[in-house]
Amino acid sequence: MVTNLKVMPISHWLPKIDNPLLISGPCSLESEEQALSTARELAKDKRVFVYRGGIWKPRTRPGMFEGVGSIGLEWLKLVKQETGLMTGTEVANAQHVEECLKAGVDVMWIGARSTASPFVVQEIADVLKGTDQIIMVKNPVNPDVQLWVGALERLNQAGLKNLVAIHRGFTPFSESKYRNFPNWKTVIELRRLLPNLPIICDPSHISGKREYLFEISQKAFDIGLDGLMIESHIDPSCALSDKDQQVTPAELAKILDKLVIRYASSEDPQFENKLELLRGRIDGIDHEIMEVLAQRMGIVKQIGQYKKENKVTALQINRWAQIMEDRSRLAEKLDLDDAFVKALFQLIHEDSVRQQSEIMDQD
Ligand code: PEP
Ligand code: MN
Repeated sequence: MVTNLKVMPISHWLPKIDNPLLISGPCSLESEEQALSTARELAKDKRVFVYRGGIWKPRTRPGMFEGVGSIGLEWLKLVKQETGLMTGTEVANAQHVEECLKAGVDVMWIGARSTASPFVVQEIADVLKGTDQIIMVKNPVNPDVQLWVGALERLNQAGLKNLVAIHRGFTPFSESKYRNFPNWKTVIELRRLLPNLPIICDPSHISGKREYLFEISQKAFDIGLDGLMIESHIDPSCALSDKDQQVTPAELAKILDKLVIRYASSEDPQFENKLELLRGRIDGIDHEIMEVLAQRMGIVKQIGQYKKENKVTALQINRWAQIMEDRSRLAEKLDLDDAFVKALFQLIHEDSVRQQSEIMDQD
């Protein structure tokens, strides 16, 4: 299915932006004082554009802090009035959306658990129809790019064009370093499917621990994502949710200072010339690789003919094991990634067997 969403760049609703979009604020709003004191600190850092604060919290188990509810909307209004920051919160049903529209919340986002439910997304899209609301969609908890695209399509079909995707990682299947494992392949796939869609990263929910925020944020910039949503709390040790992953506004500033922001291209002509040169060399090498592959296939076909005449099978397991062992040894010597070389030869071998089987099936 070809998707062609009509989406606007972030600069459409945030004209003064010339840097990546940075959204920050507490996981949950807890009190007027906590909401405002965090916002005041964040607003001093001119890199922060949007203040986030969860008020309806989707918790995995009941009985945990489930958010302050609608009163939080009043605090978001105060934050906006006092600091001038745009405000945002998570919405999970029609009533949340209606209340946010009334309260003038600038940015709404659909959480990972809700994106996984097309019913919920449709319900939200139906209420937003006819508005030009900024709406962000976190990836679903399971690594299904189609579900993520589907949610964006539902919103787009309701006429919403100010869309942003948020990568917040996926539920791990086993013990893992990160709370939710990042899957950059899926993000790159989303970018390929929807090239105009802004995509930002939520390193907080990927990391689960504040010490990993920097490495995940840098990775997001390295692959060219358009911004970050990082949880920040005036006093993380007292946070009622996601304590271990929140940072103070001062710690956030330190992380931002260290990050290298990368751009899609450079204005330096020297850079362009050098890139052009190196790309030319890559093109040449790729052509050589393909010619050598074609030669290899020629020999594979000769062997196929020979096996056929001698009634020998196309697949020879021992030979295959030998090849893998030998190529793996060479990979180490050449400093190539072992898994990559194995996957490459797996593909080459599969196609060789296919070609030989075809020869055998011809009469
Ligand atoms: C959140 O942003 O606080 C949140 C609950 O995120 P997610 O939907 O990614 O779990
Ligand atoms: Mn959180």
